[in-house]
Parts: sequence; structure tokens; C-alpha cells
Amino acid sequence: MVATSTPTATLSHLQCKECGAQYPLAAMHVCELCFGPLEVKYDLAAIRAQVTRETIERGPHSIWRYRAFLPVESEQPIDLGTGMTPLIRAERLGRRLGLRNLWIKNDAVNMPTLSFKDRVVSVALTRAKELGFTTVGCASTGNLANSTAAIAAHAGLECCVFIPADLEAGKILGTLVYRPTVMAVKGNYDQVNRLCSEVANSQGWGFVNINLRPYYSEGSKTLGFEVAEQLGWQLPDCIVAPLASGSLFTKIHKGFREFVQAGLVADKPVQCHGAQAQGCAPIAQAFAEGRDFIAPVKPHTIAKSIAIGNPADGVYALDLARKTGGQIAAVSDPEIIAGIQILAETEGIFTETAGGTTVAVLEKLAKNGHIDPDALTVVYITGNGLKTQEAVQGAIGEPLTIEPQLGSFARAWERSQTLERLEWQEVLV
Ligand SMILES: *Cc1c(COP(=O)(O)O)cnc(C)c1O
Ligand SMILES: [Zn+2]
Repeated sequence: MVATSTPTATLSHLQCKECGAQYPLAAMHVCELCFGPLEVKYDLAAIRAQVTRETIERGPHSIWRYRAFLPVESEQPIDLGTGMTPLIRAERLGRRLGLRNLWIKNDAVNMPTLSFKDRVVSVALTRAKELGFTTVGCASTGNLANSTAAIAAHAGLECCVFIPADLEAGKILGTLVYRPTVMAVKGNYDQVNRLCSEVANSQGWGFVNINLRPYYSEGSKTLGFEVAEQLGWQLPDCIVAPLASGSLFTKIHKGFREFVQAGLVADKPVQCHGAQAQGCAPIAQAFAEGRDFIAPVKPHTIAKSIAIGNPADGVYALDLARKTGGQIAAVSDPEIIAGIQILAETEGIFTETAGGTTVAVLEKLAKNGHIDPDALTVVYITGNGLKTQEAVQGAIGEPLTIEPQLGSFARAWERSQTLERLEWQEVLV
């Protein structure tokens, strides 16, 4: 099934990123001539004529305030309050890492399912409805399943999601509760993804990250738009973001560029750094070895939400880091756990393994001098720690169990203070 539609004022066509061939705005994602990925193109002059800082500020308190930059036609997109998450000044984490102008974009509290995926799914499912799909699905590393199931439920769409069978319990439960059909595939994400390409063709369903991918991926631009608006209509000097397929990373930058082209912010270079887990680091490895192709790997890491061994946008992520003077670095599973802890204890934000990866990479780059201590740096926290509790279980201590008596409390308090002093002494020697 290839449904099409006529372009609106700001929406133009699909275009191959490799050969430039143009296509109608249908449910398709690869070029028929060269198999390159397709991307949505807009009429930027029309956007420029319609959009100002004031029209955006008057818009809804969600990603849909940037609707002119998103690939939908509907006047009533699916809106569960997705986006406009807090951008906070991270003074205590900054002091710990020696960074004097550090900010956190906190998508751990994005609505409705507490990860950045709600952005891409809101866009993809709005487009799915416009194209006439009644059943939607996804190939997921966890968060995408949560998001697709929840937003499909709200939109009244039939939903069938595919996940690797070994996902965290919180991710599975947080999908099942919305009552989709859940297929737990005995294999890794890359195998799930291949199966879903076949299902999309055989069933004629709309898969948010396969045949709807050109629309889906545009949703990530809102992480660029919001940061620019929340910084008082300016771009940061430097960003650090996690990489799975590499799409989020490249689209944040695309968002910055479109704001410059639309005359909403002043142009300036933004250094783009990417974060991966060592147990699944095909993009970081290519970066380190100076290659411009990705050698697929078999994932083995606690950072399951970003464990994609054969990343669809890997080469574009590599290219972006290189051309902006950024790095793509990887950290070990223990470093990821430490990253989760340091963010929690300095800033009061509990992130999942992807966020731990990003914070650990931020720390590494700060220590190695790859980030200027005075640069306006934004670190993207993309998911919530309550969904991956098993990652930190056993690594964060236990509560002190006491009797309901003052004496019992006093003894336990005294013991805990002594323990803390001992820990400090260990740090000092
Ligand atoms: C999916 C995901 C990412 C990365 O997404 P890509 O666009 O595929 O690179 C990052 N963080 C979290 C928490 C995710 O779920
Ligand atoms: Zn092409």
C-alpha cells in the first residue's frame, strides 16, 4: 500500500540523501534508484514567511509549536503534551566535571512514556493517520515500544510491536499495559528490525521506524528547536547526545540548521559529540579508526536502549561529528552505572542506561580536554531510570533497616556517618 497526499504550504517532497532523487510524500523510506535513505524536504521560504519567534511562543506547550517544521498536514496532530521538557542549568554536575556552563535537556520526563521517543512517535503516528494506516508497529530496543503502544492507544490505532525477548522487565510491562500485541523475538535488535521490514511489506502496516522512518526521524529535530528557544533563541556551543541508529544525533543538528535558515537564531558552529556503550559501539569504532564506513557488531551491553549493531544513520552521525569538530566516544558498563549515579546525586535526575552512557562520555570528554570548560554545553538525557532498575540494582547501596525506636535510629545514624567518613578517608589516601 502506497498512500500519497498533496503537499501543504511548508511540506514539499521526499528526497534521497544520496542521489537526490525526489519522491511523493508516501510511506516509503528507501530510494528506488540507489537504496539511499529518504528525507523530508520543506519549502523554507514558506516557513520563513509564516513563522516568527512570536508565532512559536504563542503555540501549544508541546512539540507542535514547531508544526511548520514537521512533516504533517493535520490541524489536529496527536498531542499528549509531548516535548517542552525542562532545560536546566547543571551547576553541581558542571563543578564536578570542571564545566562552567553546563545544561541538561531532560527528556527523562517527556510525556507520555518518559523518553525522547514520544517525540518521534507523535510525529510518525500523526502522519500514519494522514496516510490512512489503521495498524501501526515498530521494531524497538524498548522505549520505542512503550511510546508506540501508548500513543497508538490514545489515537485509536491497532498496534503490534516487536522487541528483542531479553529486554528489561520495566520496558516490557510499560508496553503491555497499553494492550498492544507484543512480539518478543528470540534475537537481537538488528534481527528484530529485519523481520519487521518483511512484516511491513506483507501486512501493509505502518512501522514508525521503517516505512514511516522519514517522518518519524523528523520528530527528533524538536530537541534542537526546544534547546535553542529555551536558551533565549540562541544555539549552544557544544552538545553531547547518545547514538543508537544515529538518527537523533543528526536530527538535533538539522533542527539547529533549520532555525538558522528560518532566521530564528543567529548562525554559529555547534560542536556535536556522540556517546555509545563499548558493548555496542560501531560508530565510535569507525570514528576512532578514521573509517567512513560502519562495520556492524553484535551488541552486548546493559545499555539496551541504544544497542543497535548495524546503525542506519551511522555514516551520517560520523560525518556530523567530524565536520563539527566533535568526538564519538564509548564507555564501559561500569562507567555507565557510575554515570547514572553521578547525575542522580549531583542533579536529582534518575536516568536510564542511555543517559548514564551520555553522562559518562561527557565526563570523559571534559577530562580529555575535548570540551572547552566555558563552552555553553548541552547534554541530552533521553530516558528515565525507573524503566531500567536492574542496571543499578546492587550498585547503589541499601536502606538502613531499623526498629521504630529513637535509639535504633540514633545507632544507625551514627554508623552511617562513620561509614561515610571511612569512605572519604579512602578517597583521600
Ligand atoms: C532510541 C534511543 C536513543 C537513540 O536513538 P537513535 O535516534 O536511534 O540514535 C537514545 N536514547 C534513548 C533512551 C533511546 O531510547
Ligand atoms: Zn537515491
